[in-house]
Amino acid sequence: MQNGDVVHYELKEFQLFEPLFRWARKKSLWIVAFCTGCGGIEMPPLATARYDFERFGIMPNPAPRMGDLFLITGYVTPKTLKRIIITYEMMQDPKYVLAHGSCPINGGVYWDSYNVVKQLDKYIPVDVAIAGCMPRAEAVMDGIMTIMKKIEDGTADGWKRYRENYEYYRKNQDELFGEGWREKDARRWLAWI
Ligand code: SF4
Repeated sequence: MQNGDVVHYELKEFQLFEPLFRWARKKSLWIVAFCTGCGGIEMPPLATARYDFERFGIMPNPAPRMGDLFLITGYVTPKTLKRIIITYEMMQDPKYVLAHGSCPINGGVYWDSYNVVKQLDKYIPVDVAIAGCMPRAEAVMDGIMTIMKKIEDGTADGWKRYRENYEYYRKNQDELFGEGWREKDARRWLAWI
């Protein structure tokens, strides 16, 4: 796909309805939760009676193709990052990323580890980042509310930035994994079948 092929439902004919679409999107967020690190432990209180995020239309969802909000809940290793990139690309536009905890922002306590990716937003765009180690459930809820607000006002636009700056992201990914990593990994996974 070329960079110019951006989003068909932003055609002029639909622009009149765009505020309505955004309102509906923010009210029906399906979460792809990638529990990459310790922060994943804050997910159960959010999903259950204490914070009950379903009352805002938020729902956990196992299928990336039906997911809207990608939660990265902790440190990211290069091995995990490959899965994150592939999963992100499988999600349909518009899609949003919430980085949860200091680790995906700057490496956190693993800032000098050889095996932790220090800055997730070099590889995929991040719409909202929540600092803290680990951020409490209230902070995560606040991050989700922030992303909902950004969806409504149209500033949660990481999915557009990914398309528009694909070369930048792709260059960073290739620098880390080496060129042709997708094809090599696909061959390896196929060998399992
Ligand atoms: S920010 Fe803290 S709680 Fe979150 S993944 Fe890193 S070390 Fe774990």
